[in-house]
Amino acid sequence: MSHRPRILTGDTPSGRLHLGHWVGSLENRVNLQADYECFFLLANMHAFTTRAEQPADIRRDTLEIAKDWLAAGIDPERSTLVLQTEIPAIAELSWFFAMLLPFNRVMRNPTLKTEIELKDLGDHYSFGFPLYAVGQCADILAFRPELVPVGEDQVAHIEMCREVGRRFNWTYAGVSPQAKDEEHVAEGGVFPVPRALVGRVGRLTGTDGKNKMSKSLGNAIFLTDTAKEVKKKMGALYTGRQTMTEPGDVNNALFQYVRAFVKDPAKVAELEDRYSRGDNIGDGHVKVEVAAAIEELLAPMRERRAALEGEGGDRRVLEILRAHTVKANAVAEETLYAAKQAMKLDFGPRSLAFG
Ligand code: ATP
Ligand code: MG
Repeated sequence: MSHRPRILTGDTPSGRLHLGHWVGSLENRVNLQADYECFFLLANMHAFTTRAEQPADIRRDTLEIAKDWLAAGIDPERSTLVLQTEIPAIAELSWFFAMLLPFNRVMRNPTLKTEIELKDLGDHYSFGFPLYAVGQCADILAFRPELVPVGEDQVAHIEMCREVGRRFNWTYAGVSPQAKDEEHVAEGGVFPVPRALVGRVGRLTGTDGKNKMSKSLGNAIFLTDTAKEVKKKMGALYTGRQTMTEPGDVNNALFQYVRAFVKDPAKVAELEDRYSRGDNIGDGHVKVEVAAAIEELLAPMRERRAALEGEGGDRRVLEILRAHTVKANAVAEETLYAAKQAMKLDFGPRSLAFG
């Protein structure tokens, strides 16, 4: 068994991955694989909270996201891909955790509120929709990680997960309420109190120049977009600036992209300087620079992904998912049994057979 500290994070298959995922979380995941034992979750159960009538789309996007991960540099030899629907311990822990969270605490969660607004869910969302926030505590804690690399919008969810971990340890594992977060495991807690790790851009704005880039909002540059598509989407980004000599606002969405994707700091400084002074520099010029920088990032991903297209690619991904499901269940079952022991529900060990 590996003794590296663990990471768990994941994505919902509600579409393909985009640049927001890269800067918010995926880049960290790729880089941390060497030092952490990583589990990456495909939240296909949670995809049903907003797309219950689209099972075929959810299945397709589950495979697409797995391919996006592999193309981005997730290494299936080192990291474990977790298919949420095949890990029963997650669903079971969700129930136990739901009892440790006041209903109104869940409903006050600011990330849920924003999502309800942004996705126009009104008051007709399913019972399962807010439940996903509780389920996410179980996704994470089932793997007992120390770190959870996420974008800014997820920090409120991770905070709830930390509360659940603490409360479980106080209630069932004899951990003192005075214990510091990092002391919980040493004091006999079943769960660590994991920390969120926000990427270098916590909230990348979409090409609408306004909202968070999101797969559900039609404002995303996908990791699979061609150079032409990237140029077109960048071209449509509206800043409101009219002329090449008008002093521009370097805090606008366009310059968030400049800082996120143009690698050379001297180039970034030059663009910021000329733009803010209105030194004969049009938005179009800046957009071309950004599109080229994005292309530099995406070209190698596109190449790795080409090997995963078609039926052969699907087969390869399914093979990985099946093998990794066995590994993921071994870890999650161990956690569940420890939790049940603490809750005096240890009526005997069980073994799961998958495949
Ligand atoms: P959806 O619209 O279905 O909610 P999403 O685009 O928000 O999709 P998620 O699967 O909810 O994607 O998020 C996966 C991870 O990517 C989370 O850690 C989230 O914080 C991060 N993330 C998503 N969008 C952005 C963004 N625009 N900037 C930074 N991080 C992001
Ligand atoms: Mg989201």
